Amino acid sequence: MSVEVGAQAWPGVIEHYARFLPVSEATPRITLLEGNTPLIPSVKVGPRLGVGVRLFFKYEGLNPTASFKDRGMTMAVSKAVEEGAECTICASTGNTSASAAAYSARAGIQSVVLIPHGYVALGKLAQALAYGARTIAVDGDFDDCLRLVRDISDSYPVVLVNSLNPYRLEGQKTAAFEVCDWLGGPPDFHALPVGNAGNITSYWMGYCEYREAGITDRRPRMLGFQAKGAAPIVLGRRVDRPETLATAIRIGNPARWKEAQAALDESDGIIRAVSDDAIIEAYQELASEEGIFVEPASAASIAGLKRLAAEGFFEGRECTVVATLTGHGLKDPDRAIEVAPEPERAPAQVDAIVEMLGL
Ligand SMILES: *Cc1c(COP(=O)(O)O)cnc(C)c1O
Repeated sequence: MSVEVGAQAWPGVIEHYARFLPVSEATPRITLLEGNTPLIPSVKVGPRLGVGVRLFFKYEGLNPTASFKDRGMTMAVSKAVEEGAECTICASTGNTSASAAAYSARAGIQSVVLIPHGYVALGKLAQALAYGARTIAVDGDFDDCLRLVRDISDSYPVVLVNSLNPYRLEGQKTAAFEVCDWLGGPPDFHALPVGNAGNITSYWMGYCEYREAGITDRRPRMLGFQAKGAAPIVLGRRVDRPETLATAIRIGNPARWKEAQAALDESDGIIRAVSDDAIIEAYQELASEEGIFVEPASAASIAGLKRLAAEGFFEGRECTVVATLTGHGLKDPDRAIEVAPEPERAPAQVDAIVEMLGL
């Protein structure tokens, strides 16, 4: 099954970056025209990091299912269909399941998603259900779910579409290409939240491949940020009961740990932990000062940059920084309402409202 894109200006990441991807003419393009997300200049947060800092947000919440996972999923599902698969399976903190469910629906195949019971944000659960995934809430955490789907996909005819699937990383690396294409070169630093560590691995692959192809002549330093209660890479040991309100990065034993460590080592990178309070502060600033509503995990990259700035890291540096904002704020409406003041109540009268507003 091949999708006719016709006169579409943006054909999706596979078609646009085909020469960097393991696809042929025969590979079906299972696409929702993901990618091509905006690189938004920061107006408030960036200037506060340091006088010489130019900060851009790579706003991945504007993908078809509202997270960066779509870049990898278009590849994973297209290759699964090329190989004749009839069913995908994944473990998920929510966004992978939303994306797997959408792209599997698009391909006309079944999807099965295992999620940790009680720890998936409302919008993500709604997506998996709406797209028609067989949705199984497991009494366990993400790491348990991942172990289960690995075992099942080893022995039964279902294709694993977690970021252990190499095609996921191939698709996700296109975000680094877009950053270079839009900026006219790589940034000096690239900041992002780290959970299962697939995305930091993918960006690093993308930056390396562009340099090897001679399109760019250098690579950025990678800055990874984990939540304090779920910071295995920072601590150098797995975390048995990871805890953070940033559920998308509530992971104690990242599948791409080794690769992420290599990306940090090779890029002279930095990985740090940030507290949930710092994540929520950055989350609120992004929405109220930049007009960009993200889910809590996405704000970890901004909390991390603020922490580095407070330590003097950006003092005297002229630099370009890109921060990936991984998912949309509407994914987790419960959290948004919980941390905001209640709406004010008023009778349906002009006078009353004018008085409230002090006009
Ligand atoms: C998946 C996800 C992450 C973490 O990405 P990894 O590749 O697992 O490190 C961060 N934020 C959001 C919104 C996500 O969906």
